[in-house]
Amino acid sequence: MLDKPETGLEEADGVLVDRATFTGNRGLAIEEGLIFELGRPEASGVDLPEPAPFQSRLGGLERKTPIGLPGLSEPETVRHYVRLSQKNYSIDTGIFPLGSCTMKHNPRLNERMARLPGFGDIHPLQPQSSVQGALELMKEISHWLLTLTGMQAVALSPRAGAHGEACGMMAIKQALIARGEAEQRKVVLVPDSAHGTNPATATLVGFEVRSVPAREDGIVDVEAVRQALGPDVAAIMLTNPNTCGLFEKNIVEIAEAMHEAGAYFYCDGANFNAIVGRARPGDLGVDAMHINLHKTFSTPHGGGGPGAGPVVLSSRLAPHAPLPFLVQEKAGLRLVEDKAEAPGTFGRIGAFHGQMGMYVRALTYMLSHGADGLRQASEDAVLNANYVRVGLADLMSLPFGNRPCMHEALFDDAWLKGTGLSVLDFAKAMIDEGFHPMTVYFPLVVHGAMLIEPTESESKATLDLFVAALRDLAMAVQRGDKERFLGAPHYAPRRRLDETRAARTPVLKWTKPAPIEN
Ligand SMILES: *Cc1c(COP(=O)(O)O)cnc(C)c1O
Repeated sequence: MLDKPETGLEEADGVLVDRATFTGNRGLAIEEGLIFELGRPEASGVDLPEPAPFQSRLGGLERKTPIGLPGLSEPETVRHYVRLSQKNYSIDTGIFPLGSCTMKHNPRLNERMARLPGFGDIHPLQPQSSVQGALELMKEISHWLLTLTGMQAVALSPRAGAHGEACGMMAIKQALIARGEAEQRKVVLVPDSAHGTNPATATLVGFEVRSVPAREDGIVDVEAVRQALGPDVAAIMLTNPNTCGLFEKNIVEIAEAMHEAGAYFYCDGANFNAIVGRARPGDLGVDAMHINLHKTFSTPHGGGGPGAGPVVLSSRLAPHAPLPFLVQEKAGLRLVEDKAEAPGTFGRIGAFHGQMGMYVRALTYMLSHGADGLRQASEDAVLNANYVRVGLADLMSLPFGNRPCMHEALFDDAWLKGTGLSVLDFAKAMIDEGFHPMTVYFPLVVHGAMLIEPTESESKATLDLFVAALRDLAMAVQRGDKERFLGAPHYAPRRRLDETRAARTPVLKWTKPAPIEN
């Protein structure tokens, strides 16, 4: 943790003040207070006439004192929210190389389509006969997802990747119940490199996690999987390409071993962006896989908007898919919502049918790219990651050697050894250069991991500048220019924050400071 003077903040009258400038602003980055600090109860942006005399029907229960909400004029309101919006770094601001997150460009066309009244203004409780167009769209996106993955059935309703994992694992559990083996098969194999949601999901659904080590070269060891298998194993949860950015080349063998042992293969499909149009999970022996529509098929995510995590299922699990699902009938499309019609289903994963707006955005993305465009996007994502890898390989260290990666390049902190600087210092210094840092300290299997996923959206010029900036930083590390890193970020409105204290003792409530007495 750094001391107060190093953060640029000083305590004055019990309030932390940035003394770098008189106003606390940094250049045109304006320091903005909370609306409760800025607003005045008596101010208003609108001028309404006095209400006509009326008689209250609240029987004396109405509030007698002013409510005290902060008021602002219209320009003050506009400025407050615009200033807040400018505090967000986003993919619209610059490259967002956050590994495992697929922060690609969000085409504006997606948003335009999602707001068409026929999609945007319908209600989930409308009679199905009045929303046939929306159901048609759900059928169309199902068709694309099944074609791209080579799978048998799709459950559209999960609202996120992690929710999709829960859906897939519940389908597996239901299949085991149907086989009468749910009591016996309690264990789910999870590789060490897995995303944290995988073991969390397995546990939530009532399984026990048995971890499987990776080999020296970063992929899962088939022999280790075989050894971990037994009559107590329900499934494996495997990410492919994995979180080290490597293709699990023994995936077919692993799938076969699972099936021979009577277990299922759940694939975490969050990294599907690397293989769309190139490999079909159905051909690899996958039984269930979620697709993060918000990653692979664009749309703002990570605090920026809703997600959707449809789950594709093999013929082994299709009978256990959740409600509702679509059927085509003479009279039109219909969502099956009743358990009586689907005896194998495990039930529902959420209310209604899922995130309609996300289906529209993802299908818009698919249709505007076309099958060839989707494949090219994947190829370019892989090409861009390898471009970054090669551009930095002589200065930074690669845990699995300088070999081709998939859509993300993984570095470790071996090259920082003895410099007195950490991955965190390096990441913070990137902020001074105007770059959002990459994912750091994940995956856990690699010491001091730095996971860079540029995605296909970035031009060569952007990647060249990104690589040049990281090279410049890496050379500063080698020169021993510690100053550049230890206090970084130096130029951001807030400097090195005490993240541990923020997490341990969060201040979640604003209390009005006492007036200063003169
Ligand atoms: C993003 C991600 C998830 C979780 O997806 P959400 O949509 O954030 O719930 C799971 N696994 C991996 C590998 C991911 O990258």
